Amino acid sequence: MKIKTKLPEWGTSIFTIMTRMAVEHNAINLAQGFPDFNCDDELLELVHHFQKKGFNQYAPMQGVLNLRKSISEKIEKLYGRHYDFENEITVTAGATQALYTAITSVVEAGDEVIIFEPAYDSYVPDILSNGGIPVYVPLNPKDYSYNWDLVRNKISDKTKAIILNSPHNPTGSLITKDDIKELEKTTKGTDILVVSDEVYEHITFDGRKQLSLAGSEELAKRTFVISSFGKTYHTTGWKMGYCAAPENLTKEFVKMHQFVVFSVNTPIQYAYADFMKQEDRYLSLGNFYQHKRDVFVNAIKNSRLKIKNCEGTYFQLLDYSSVSDKPDMEFSEYLTKEIGVAVIPLSPFYEDRESRSLVRICFAKSDEVLKEAAAKLLKLETK
Ligand code: PMP
Ligand code: GLN
Repeated sequence: MKIKTKLPEWGTSIFTIMTRMAVEHNAINLAQGFPDFNCDDELLELVHHFQKKGFNQYAPMQGVLNLRKSISEKIEKLYGRHYDFENEITVTAGATQALYTAITSVVEAGDEVIIFEPAYDSYVPDILSNGGIPVYVPLNPKDYSYNWDLVRNKISDKTKAIILNSPHNPTGSLITKDDIKELEKTTKGTDILVVSDEVYEHITFDGRKQLSLAGSEELAKRTFVISSFGKTYHTTGWKMGYCAAPENLTKEFVKMHQFVVFSVNTPIQYAYADFMKQEDRYLSLGNFYQHKRDVFVNAIKNSRLKIKNCEGTYFQLLDYSSVSDKPDMEFSEYLTKEIGVAVIPLSPFYEDRESRSLVRICFAKSDEVLKEAAAKLLKLETK
């Protein structure tokens, strides 16, 4: 039997490939983004508590009310917008499902969706599987800033949505107040929707604050704001996230959500609802990861690798152009197999799949592991 693939250009995700390679070659895995330390004991105890208490059956379809209340309160406190917890917040199986569901609920065949390159790997398949057309706008390769004239040039009467991601994976750049103003100006008076992937919202550095699109009066009414508990609470394997959007968008989102997953893990939702009340847990996350960024950057500063600027997320880009002429896939394989450090090549984040002599490392690791990996990378010589 011949099955026509809906995603002909897609094989296995680069995150799976590199983690597999790291395990196979016993390399330090700085590739796929996940912490190598455990989440807080108190959170584990809360999950266990709710499991023992019998909260083990289906949760309400949109999520446990207390958790939706906690999410709503957090967004209002941090970004100044009220989302009604009954009609405007949905708890999802990770940000991945929230992204898929948001895109699927609004994108029809032939619709164009603008994305910025380099782009996180799930956006394009989400668009394509709905018959949509991804329209690529490059970020400035120097500092990964936005060029809004380019965006305006790409907008057409088929533009259904724009996907924004800040803090940005893989570059670690943040949008600015001016970017938000430009986006407001560019889309004002249109029906263009925004999918705002804010999964690293609490991981910002050097005094910078997250600028959520929830904070924009003009944009919030057309935006799905998406976040992930996995990044905030060191629980990527639990696959829990949420989407906040105005009632008319949430209505469509939920229509889809009920048939994609219906509802998500019950005891974990109750646990997060309680745990989230300790705001210091997420407010201190930026400093926690800034320290890790600095440990890694300091340990590697005398290497031949050029360190790109990183304003947020737990990723650091490294430019290896003075070390090797190999394309990034080959160089990543070399680093994993010969040097013992697994990284992510950047080319899969681009439509043209071309190498730009850049790799991404994840610094959500113990300080010892970061120093050990840096010591290995220091051995790289000039080409
Ligand atoms: N968006 C971005 C930018 C990410 O880096 C990730 C990574 N995990 C996700 C979405 C998916 O989040 P989740 O694990 O909650 O599905
Ligand atoms: N978001 C994580 C990263 O960028 C990986 C998630 C995944 O493996 N799909 O590394």
